[in-house]
Amino acid sequence: MEKIRHYIGGELVDPVSGRWLDNIDPATAEVYSEVPDGDERDAARAVLAAERAFPDWSARSAEERSRHLLRIADLLEANLDRLARAECVDNGKPLHLARSLDIPRAVANFRFFATAILHFHSESHATDQLAINYTLRRPRGVAGCISPWNLPLYLLTWKVAPAIATGNTAVAKPSEITPMTAYLLSELCREAGLPPGVLNVVHGLGGKVGAALVSHPKVAAVSFTGGTATGAEIARSAAPLFKKLSLELGGKNPNVVFADADQGEVIRTSLRSSFQNQGQICLSGSRIFVERPAYEAFVERFVTETRKLRVGDPLEPGTDQGALVSRAQYDKVLSYIDLARKEGGRILCGGGRPSSLPDRCRNGYFLEPTVITGLDVASRVNQEEVFGPVVTVTPFEGEDEVVAWANGTEYGLSASLWTENLPRAHRVAERIHSGTVWINCWMLRDLRVPVGGMKASCVGREGGEEALRFFTEPKNGCIRVPG
Ligand code: NDP
Repeated sequence: MEKIRHYIGGELVDPVSGRWLDNIDPATAEVYSEVPDGDERDAARAVLAAERAFPDWSARSAEERSRHLLRIADLLEANLDRLARAECVDNGKPLHLARSLDIPRAVANFRFFATAILHFHSESHATDQLAINYTLRRPRGVAGCISPWNLPLYLLTWKVAPAIATGNTAVAKPSEITPMTAYLLSELCREAGLPPGVLNVVHGLGGKVGAALVSHPKVAAVSFTGGTATGAEIARSAAPLFKKLSLELGGKNPNVVFADADQGEVIRTSLRSSFQNQGQICLSGSRIFVERPAYEAFVERFVTETRKLRVGDPLEPGTDQGALVSRAQYDKVLSYIDLARKEGGRILCGGGRPSSLPDRCRNGYFLEPTVITGLDVASRVNQEEVFGPVVTVTPFEGEDEVVAWANGTEYGLSASLWTENLPRAHRVAERIHSGTVWINCWMLRDLRVPVGGMKASCVGREGGEEALRFFTEPKNGCIRVPG
């Protein structure tokens, strides 16, 4: 059975404890590899390696760092098939999704920041005739990058690439539920000739190796994506150490459909925003609000199309919906479907395991895509993040009502808004409290724009300049101009 290993100081190494955790294929519920059960000793070794690599790496020119990142991007691209298959088996997502979304985006992350760093400029301010101020941006030192299981390589590289492009060295901690592509990335970094210690990857449980990284005094900045409760815990331990923190957390995103919208396009995109990646995307539109005149037709068509989604073996090309990532996630999502029933919701389709699964997948963590109506907007299912293939649909009467509902959760990550009325699109987008508002689209991404959310969804922003700024420390010099 394949043993995943830490990547520390350029070497692939066993955990100090000598202990390993099972890595499970969610489509079969079988153990198929082992992942290090890392602890604070592994975290300390990785931080030390990163610390040692920092003086040399940070002194290299931006062009040289850029070349290293581009080499890694090329290798990721050359290994697209292998990486996509690994992501599919590790996570349960359809192979074609990993091929078309996850891995190409990991390549794009490295290319984007490899070239962004060449254009990242410093600032200067002329202070009347008295002085010139110039602001340098220096890497912070060792960056800790902690990422979740839903988009494993995509989100890990979204942090690691800007961290090392700007001259930091990094210690990454992928979720132990989906560690495989981070391990393959480690191998490719060795092949690319990345200097030892520039990137280190430690595996294991969040509460052990992740927490050790966050509280390590030599980790200057922590970039975290994951659940809001974990984010709060990280903030509690990092704040007294004055670490720089970027927290990308949960969402309960509204998908607002006005009656004048192009309903065909709304249905097509809402199927994706509800169920892509088994609904395990922080930006999923899990609360659909439809303007009353369009509600009945929307529900009928949406349910018809949802029933057509093929749930099955993630490795099969025709599969729309793969397995949920783990038994715990499967149980959690099922418990929310039960709760929806108790809260008075009507399950219009889905609500349980698909009846026909291929033999290979009979024990896997599969759930049918589920559409629920009749729930109060204040119900727990409409307030808490389910993070699975479950959406609610609710009719609304007008702009004021839907804006209040859209804003009526603790989250504020993203929103979609569907209307052909441009003034209304601007008006409503302006009033919705979320970091991103997609108008007549969903998940249309430009890597330059700030990504993140309001309220309990985020601290700080990622993407483009925001990431380059997060991973660098501004230092201002002031030169007096002799009169
Ligand atoms: P978690 O918060 O459970 O875990 C995220 C990462 O943090 C994992 O690597 C985890 O390790 C680690 N971790 C857990 N506890 C600690 C700790 N005390 N200190 C340091 N690290 C820790 O999230 P999930 O993996 O369950 O991911 C799902 C969540 O991520 C959802 O809530 C989703 O909304 C959010 N998310 C947010 C995104 C955004 O951009 N805003 C994007 C994608 C997901 P381990 O796996 O071992 O527990």
